[in-house]
Amino acid sequence: MTMKCPGCSSIQMKVYDFHGEEVDSCQACGGIWFENGELNRALSNADNGDDCVRVEETLGQHLGHSKRQCAHCDCTMEHYHLMDGYQIELDVCHTCSGVWIDEHERTKVVQSPKVKALLAELDAKISTKTWLFQFLSQMPVEFNIKPKRQPSITYLLLALNICIFAAYGFDFEMTDSVFDHFAMRASDIVSGTHTWTLLSHMFLHGDLIHLAGNMYFLYVVGDNLEDSLGRLRFLGLYLLCGLAAAAAQIAADPTSGIYMVGASGAIAGLFGMYLLWFRHASLTFMFVVYQKKLSPMAFFAIWLVFNILGLMMAGEGVAYWAHIGGFVAGLIIGTLLKGKVMESNPILAMLNEPEVKVTR
Ligand SMILES: [Zn+2]
Ligand SMILES: [Zn+2]
Repeated sequence: MTMKCPGCSSIQMKVYDFHGEEVDSCQACGGIWFENGELNRALSNADNGDDCVRVEETLGQHLGHSKRQCAHCDCTMEHYHLMDGYQIELDVCHTCSGVWIDEHERTKVVQSPKVKALLAELDAKISTKTWLFQFLSQMPVEFNIKPKRQPSITYLLLALNICIFAAYGFDFEMTDSVFDHFAMRASDIVSGTHTWTLLSHMFLHGDLIHLAGNMYFLYVVGDNLEDSLGRLRFLGLYLLCGLAAAAAQIAADPTSGIYMVGASGAIAGLFGMYLLWFRHASLTFMFVVYQKKLSPMAFFAIWLVFNILGLMMAGEGVAYWAHIGGFVAGLIIGTLLKGKVMESNPILAMLNEPEVKVTR
């Protein structure tokens, strides 16, 4: 029996081995016809971490009638999303349960069990635990994929910042003396003195709350970024963002004699990269007692608004220009490196596909 292609009506359908299943594939348009059960079996055979795929029974949203006719039953097929969180469109015949996928969807359909497993983590709901944590600490809870390797540089930076603070932070005289030598003042840098403070100020903190807040955010975004960049590149970019932050603060007020300290500028740079590469992640935001998962884009937009407001109200003691400068540097680096980072991190690239929809 000759079968007509549901995709392009050509009659050049050939039997084709697709992950161990003999399926009919169109020689003209490259689409594949799966009979009842064949798609489940092919995806179970494929190397995607799931040996018992049940995708045919768990299709996503019904999108209405398809323009295509079933190759066997000569009836109109129905249009569906492959899964709710992975909106690949395919056609299904309700009479014979056959499934049609287009050529450009092949790879995506094969990797769908991987996406499903990752989404199970990313879609996790906020719980009493996450609520209590944020209510007490005022810090967001992160939902993201786990790094493949131990984030050694992130741990090293955490340890350095904490140990350095512990060495002087509980003694006023010592703090004064350390700040005199290692905190950054715009006026010093402009006049060419104490230039090492461009680097050293990033490892000092004014008080325990300042340190704890910075270290928490460094831990939240640092582990995933270090994993996606590799250790040395991560460290280099962290320092580069810190320098960009210092430059922004100096440019904003070159004559200032106020000491600037803190890792905030460098960490703000990490925020910029994180929101561009981890759009599938979520950070919780709490308004008084109401907690909500937000995309990194939304979360850091709110963070930026707070910094711009702080700048306009000219609050003392917080280097708002450094935050904004570091953040912009991170966004620029994030944009420039996105292609490379996606290329070397297939899982990130997969989660960055527009068809992936995270539930928040
Ligand atoms: Zn065709
Ligand atoms: Zn049919």
